Amino acid sequence: MPEKLPSLVIVGRPNVGKSTLFNRLTGTRRVIVTDEPGITRDRIYGKAEWQGRVLEVVDTGGIVPDDKALIPAEIFRQARVAIENAALLVLVVDSSAGLIPLDQELARLLRTTGRPFVVAANKVDSPLQETNAATFHSLGVPVFPIAAEHGTGVDDLLDAALEQIKGHDVEAQAEEKKVIEIAIIGRPNVGKSTLLNRMAGEERSIVSPIPGTTMDSVDTDVVHQGRSYRFVDTAGIRRKGKTNLVAEKLSVVMARRGLERADVAILVIDGEQGVTQGDATIASYAEQSGRSVIIVVNKWDLAVEAARRAADEAAKTAKGKAKRAENAKPAQHEIDKGQLLFEYEKMVKEKFKFLSYAPVLFLSAKTGERAQKLYPLIDRVAAARVRKIPTPELNRWLKEEVDLGRASNPKARPVRIYYITQAKIAPPVFLLFTNQKKPLHFGFERFLENQLRAKWEFPGTPVRFIQRLKKRGEKSASSE
Ligand code: GDP
Repeated sequence: MPEKLPSLVIVGRPNVGKSTLFNRLTGTRRVIVTDEPGITRDRIYGKAEWQGRVLEVVDTGGIVPDDKALIPAEIFRQARVAIENAALLVLVVDSSAGLIPLDQELARLLRTTGRPFVVAANKVDSPLQETNAATFHSLGVPVFPIAAEHGTGVDDLLDAALEQIKGHDVEAQAEEKKVIEIAIIGRPNVGKSTLLNRMAGEERSIVSPIPGTTMDSVDTDVVHQGRSYRFVDTAGIRRKGKTNLVAEKLSVVMARRGLERADVAILVIDGEQGVTQGDATIASYAEQSGRSVIIVVNKWDLAVEAARRAADEAAKTAKGKAKRAENAKPAQHEIDKGQLLFEYEKMVKEKFKFLSYAPVLFLSAKTGERAQKLYPLIDRVAAARVRKIPTPELNRWLKEEVDLGRASNPKARPVRIYYITQAKIAPPVFLLFTNQKKPLHFGFERFLENQLRAKWEFPGTPVRFIQRLKKRGEKSASSE
């Protein structure tokens, strides 16, 4: 992953000169992004170098279409991830237009983020106009008169930016604001796009299918309850094959591509159809990728409906015609949803044995039923992925709580584990120092994994073990 640069984020209503300032700061002439119908203009990034420091520059004008940008709250919603991750927010205003309510409202919203912000009063072309810039002081933040077109005043703005960023701990911020990257994968028509829309909120415009076009990957950034999520390669989710076979193949390619970048994969299956061979293929890629996995059984509404119909049918047959004549209207049978979930989950787990660590969530992307459970689950899974268990705790557990005698293992080769330590996170890898040269028996490793998972929460993430032979006489922290 590239190192995260501190970012200067340009915000403002339409036509104040955001784009010109962006070009000036980054020293580039951007290729103008055409407004092809259906394609959202993605966030526009660039780099500015100043006094030996490199800043990321983000033009939110590239995120928010002009008509939407007339509503400050809309700018805020659509560009939220950029805004919340800013090291410095620059509110661009038009000094020749004076301070208008839209600017004031934007300033108010920006203030609520707690991120440092300044005003760039643009279109100040003569010293006389500098007095115009003075009215913006009422916003209560530093004001920089600039003429983005000519570059006047931009140096001072950059100096101020560096001043702000000094001591800004990039590492800490990246940690605290870490975006969880998510790939939604699955066969065609299982409801990936619908789920994405549900997760991203209806108000977001997302790339719509344009047959035959290859698009660069487009990600969708979402802030949900103060946390940042990035759904990767969402253009791919929308891309559909012309025939079933093509669509099926495309879904596999897309899944593999998404998996390359994600922390968490959401494997969507169709709850009405159940698990198919195609699902299993994509699931196996998810498993091999080492990503964390959540299995979403979508179209829960249809599954419930089907179960209800089955119950009705069964009841009809049982009661017989005579009985039915008494109640002309056959009663809609209430089905036990809890029981249905339970049975269905058992079936899914059975089919995806190799993904036994993946939590299963039933929901309806279309109706929204149970969909609110997905974000908390993503959080749990993402947290487990980067969990690090302190070595002393691991060794205490191994010594006091794990009965290795219960593990299945060839009798001739009793395994002794001298020492355990977690070597890596994302996914967690545990290093075992043992008396064995040969790889651990599958059953033995499985036993250890189950014990580990029972003790510490690792939902959704694979955990791996690496074995090292502890040489004779070698000391280890837990030598007996
Ligand atoms: P994708 O190919 O995986 O992106 O699938 P889409 O999101 O395009 O969905 C395929 C079809 O299933 C569409 O007609 C959706 O309206 C429908 N669909 C998606 N989710 C649900 C759901 O939860 N319940 C029902 N009844 N239909 C759904």
